[in-house]
Amino acid sequence: MIDVSKGFSRRQFLTHTSCFGAFYAAAQMIPLPALAAELAIDSRVSQTPIVDKGFASVRKIGNGLYATISDPSKGNTTLCNGGFLAGKDAALLIEGYTTPAGAAFQMDALRMVSQVPVKGALDTHYHFDHSMGNAFYGVNGIALWAHATASKRIVDSYSPLQGTDKGAVLGPLEKRVKDAKSDGERTHAQSDLNAVTGLFQIANASILSLPNHPIDPAKLPMSIDLGGLTAVVESHPGHSGTDIVVRVPEQNVVYAGDLLFSGWYPVCFDEKATISGWRDTLKKFAALDKDTLFVPGHGQICGQEGIATLREVFDDIAAQAEKMYKAGVPVEEAQQRYAVPEKFKNFPVYAWGFTIGPAIAKLYGEWRAN
Ligand SMILES: [Zn+2]
Repeated sequence: MIDVSKGFSRRQFLTHTSCFGAFYAAAQMIPLPALAAELAIDSRVSQTPIVDKGFASVRKIGNGLYATISDPSKGNTTLCNGGFLAGKDAALLIEGYTTPAGAAFQMDALRMVSQVPVKGALDTHYHFDHSMGNAFYGVNGIALWAHATASKRIVDSYSPLQGTDKGAVLGPLEKRVKDAKSDGERTHAQSDLNAVTGLFQIANASILSLPNHPIDPAKLPMSIDLGGLTAVVESHPGHSGTDIVVRVPEQNVVYAGDLLFSGWYPVCFDEKATISGWRDTLKKFAALDKDTLFVPGHGQICGQEGIATLREVFDDIAAQAEKMYKAGVPVEEAQQRYAVPEKFKNFPVYAWGFTIGPAIAKLYGEWRAN
């Protein structure tokens, strides 16, 4: 029975924590750094958020431009970053977040600053933390845009997890933790188990809701006139095979989705992720105006230094992997042997087998193919 007078009952609390316990164990390790000093003096970036709920805050970053920045250590309502663009005639919302409550939070923030009709919402890609809250848009009759293959990827990736035996999904990962040959290998395996446990729980707690406005990448770039504010939608390779970015060239602002992890190790596990493609995309971002402001998919808002840093992270993974590749180290061993250098030691690793491990495997694959 729910004791409303005391908020969560003990039973509810226990259910909640056992569902998300492992996931929070991972997410709590990922605090959000403060806004960088360079951005504290950037006149486009408001120092005070228009709303801050802990799990995410929303701040103005330009004329009609807002960024929603998540702090995963404070809950999984949103998990990823996004934002919205509000012109004189219409608004565009970015991301479906991890839960409908996350998408609703962002909609409420929009309504604090503008009453213009919403032209649509856009998932920057299909991954769960950007799309599991899509149902909010469905229920409110808001058109949901995404890469043309995003709907299929959502169904193919997440519906098999629903209603299935948890042991069948997590068993092999638990075995890897048990059979680990070293502490390092065990830590890596445990991080993967935590991540998949979280994904399993979130997939089973969610109603999948699919984008109904597919964007054909062959027809991009596409300009959207919101009334005195023009957004340009582009597609670039790298993170998921479904990646869409929203640029506002007139104000040098880019909503980059997960093509940019700011101060994090990049998540590279996707079967459609390509390391060479991603590094090319980052090179293109680096060639944009020096005053470009980026809203990353994860981590804090950044300028060009955030792009430079992620390129350095990829360079380091590639340099260590290449040495091992040339020395004949098998890929499985190389994946375990990568050492996080001192300068990136505070960079969150969401899970080893979602970030560094697959980056090295994909690099090996690219070198073998040459
Ligand atoms: Zn992603």
